[in-house]
Amino acid sequence: MTAIRALTTTEDLEEAGLIANAQRAQLSDVAARYAIAVTPAMAALIDPGNPDDPIARQFIPDAAELVRLPEEREDPIGDGAHSPVEGIVHRYPDRVLLKAVHVCPVYCRFCFRREMVGPQGLGTLASQAMDKAFAYIADHPEIWEVILTGGDPLVLSPRRLASIMERLAGIDHVKIVRFHTRVPVVEPERVDEALIAALKASGKTTYLALHANHPRELTAKASAACARLVDAGVVMVSQSVLLKGVNDNADTLAALMRAFVENRIKPYYLHHPDLAPGTSHFRLTVEEGQALVASLRGRISGLCQPAYVLDIPGGHGKTVISASTIEDDGGGCYTVSDFHGEPHAYPPVVPAQA
Ligand code: SF4
Repeated sequence: MTAIRALTTTEDLEEAGLIANAQRAQLSDVAARYAIAVTPAMAALIDPGNPDDPIARQFIPDAAELVRLPEEREDPIGDGAHSPVEGIVHRYPDRVLLKAVHVCPVYCRFCFRREMVGPQGLGTLASQAMDKAFAYIADHPEIWEVILTGGDPLVLSPRRLASIMERLAGIDHVKIVRFHTRVPVVEPERVDEALIAALKASGKTTYLALHANHPRELTAKASAACARLVDAGVVMVSQSVLLKGVNDNADTLAALMRAFVENRIKPYYLHHPDLAPGTSHFRLTVEEGQALVASLRGRISGLCQPAYVLDIPGGHGKTVISASTIEDDGGGCYTVSDFHGEPHAYPPVVPAQA
């Protein structure tokens, strides 16, 4: 069956043949806790005959989500610790997050903001709160970049997006506006002329960070949506989450990064999964992640290499966690490993003169 609207209940999922009747009772407990949404584009990509389908794993609820580990947190990356006014997260000096909306076209089962997004989540920023958020940005001349995230900002209407861009256009010190979104992949038809026009404002450079985790997500329609954005002057970068059972092998990661580059999207971040509640079934160890990222080095072009990052729990920000390829031997000498893992001295040892 082809879905014609987003599937948002366990009944919808069963009717679409994406879960069995026997699973429904248990998955209803998950659905009561965390929002469900699978767009027609994503439902069409799922192979219901494959119990390990990497697209299904991202969007179809799983009983494992009811298992909560002690180290998991409702606010795993510590947004709350850096929120001076509602809707703003000011963690780094020169940039802020503006969380205008807490709704998404799909609900990812590993979402790091799963306690905040969804129909029962924090909703859309009210107009007074929006005024305060813009006043905060205007009052802080060190803010060079505003990152619209949430939720997915591209669920807002072109009219609302244009009004946000217009207000940012009036703040001289903001030069870059970045949107974090899954829309070009999960709802590519939404990326039309009106939406693209709404993302641009005079004097600002618009970046769009596309969230995708498996090469199959970059369908012909998704590619066409990305091409419309890039052709219109929007600079695109990628972000992906390293997820067990979705992309935790070198072939899939290499194909994903190449697909980004082929679509004129520069690979940017590969996130180690956050400690969101009920997501332990998605997490690899840091060592496993480092080994996978190291295996990409010699295998695919430098253009295809993302930064492997961890958001330090508690709101301490991102840090790159790739395995180090250089060791300090002391006295200004180092051992550096090439992409085969072979060690070399740096600077090279100069043979003694006879
Ligand atoms: S689109 Fe982003 S914010 Fe929304 S559910 Fe997925 S990971 Fe979370």
